Amino acid sequence: MVAPLLCRAPGALLTTSSALLRVHHNYRAVAVAAPAFSRFLSTHVTNAACEDHEPGFLGSVETFFDRAAKISGVSEKSLAGIKAVDSVLSVKFPVEIDQDTHVIIEGYRAQHSRHRLPTKGGIRFSDEVDLQEVEALASLMTFKCAVVDVPFGGAKGGVKLNPKKYTPSQLERITRRYTMELCQKNFIGPGIDVPAPDVGTGPREMSWIMDTYRQFNPQDVNAAGCVTGKPISQGGVRGRNEATGLGVYYGIREFLQFPEVQKMTGLNGSIAGKTVIVQGFGNVGYWAAKFFHNNGAKIIGIGEHDVSVYNPNGIDVEAIFKYRVEKGSFRGYGNVEIIEKPIAIMERECDILIPAALERQIGLKNVKKIKAKVIGEAANGPITPDAHDYLVSQGKVVIPDLLLNAGGVTVSYFEWLKNLSHVRFGRMSRKWEEAGKSKLLKLVEENAGRQLTPQERRGVIHGAEEHELVYSGLEDTMIGACEETRATAVAKRTDFRTAALVNAIQKISTVTTQSGQMFL
Ligand code: NAD
Repeated sequence: MVAPLLCRAPGALLTTSSALLRVHHNYRAVAVAAPAFSRFLSTHVTNAACEDHEPGFLGSVETFFDRAAKISGVSEKSLAGIKAVDSVLSVKFPVEIDQDTHVIIEGYRAQHSRHRLPTKGGIRFSDEVDLQEVEALASLMTFKCAVVDVPFGGAKGGVKLNPKKYTPSQLERITRRYTMELCQKNFIGPGIDVPAPDVGTGPREMSWIMDTYRQFNPQDVNAAGCVTGKPISQGGVRGRNEATGLGVYYGIREFLQFPEVQKMTGLNGSIAGKTVIVQGFGNVGYWAAKFFHNNGAKIIGIGEHDVSVYNPNGIDVEAIFKYRVEKGSFRGYGNVEIIEKPIAIMERECDILIPAALERQIGLKNVKKIKAKVIGEAANGPITPDAHDYLVSQGKVVIPDLLLNAGGVTVSYFEWLKNLSHVRFGRMSRKWEEAGKSKLLKLVEENAGRQLTPQERRGVIHGAEEHELVYSGLEDTMIGACEETRATAVAKRTDFRTAALVNAIQKISTVTTQSGQMFL
């Protein structure tokens, strides 16, 4: 039986969890029972490391959820509601590519949980996109937000295309048209659902999204809060671009300091001197590599979709990044071994392996060859459940995606707060703080009988800039979430992924239970 539909605005239709809603571009809405809807379309890239019998991405997320659910102490009734994806939008629309050609573009948006509003999650442009992937990513977003105490529900969007095959003006038309669909179906808004960048999208696309939303909602004074990851000039927050990679760095740094992690891995607590391999050199992978490099680690391998590079003596992150931007590939870069089968980079010896590309990159086909002692999931869903179990059984430390890459949504939350308050962080307080510290310093100098040098003085009185406040909020969030995860892992005698999920499930259950559950 199809669940009743709830109309929220003209043309906007939602479903309960038991049915999926498909809204075509001609606004004909069709509700279909979930199993009839094609949900599994993994491709060679996300299948390369996996055996046929391993679950797809959504199946993996559900498997991990079920394990944590069992030991969470939350009632069966609540768990069913927490696990299900609330609503899904599926659209197809024509876009003019040139005077004679239209292409039909497929897009999705899934809202996994509206236990807190708005829902939040990135938009992915990739020809790997399918409904299953979007649902899996939306579910992860709910748990991720709960792990880092960001008061949002989870969502995710995807447009099935290879952005490299389109010109910027074609991409602009596609992005704006997709946003129009979201606007018309009530799947976007500062209090409804707030997208952000993900694979294949960045500040440019976020700007187009905000501008399109604004055309449809000219009266909305909070329009800038309809999307995060925008350029600074469009209401973005300083620090968002690097936030996910920086959060990955903070998270791994914290884990290395836990005595039980040092015991399991034989590594000491310092970042300096550690050997690191990063798979995926996009937004997350580049920034993570850069923060590790800047803090004394040695980046010995970088994987990309075409080839990977390896040098046991270390790779200059900035130099190779510039080279790849210029040439479009690592090929031809000096002083590195070029690995033609890119995924093989993950099998090289290193202390820390950071998959930062896509889901399902470590599965039963390659897991036994993984030599890293710590695997930090910067990407969403890079390890299948069976591969995860094998790694844990070998005493390796897996730091899970829903914790480790939560820096992006944490700083997106800061950006959203900035947009709703319409003021840059620190604008009201910076000079006041500096004046207060200056007065205090004067008293200290008088009593100590020594004047500070101008440089010392600047160091002490300096009031925080926006990016410093953002970094500080992110660091504090990551430290707190890592500590909470560790405490649950110890208390429940379980792995870190299950522990992070237990924490998320318990927090979501508390919110839904204490809301009175009238509309469940
Ligand atoms: P991106 O598009 O900026 O970068 C992805 C990179 O991976 C690209 O350079 C791409 O060429 C490379 N890549 C693609 N297929 C590959 C393959 N098979 N092997 C090696 N490299 C490959 O995307 P991103 O924003 O950096 O996202 C990467 C991962 O991090 C995704 O799983 C995403 O969901 C997750 N994530 C992103 C954010 C964010 O703020 N951007 C936040 C949380 C999680």
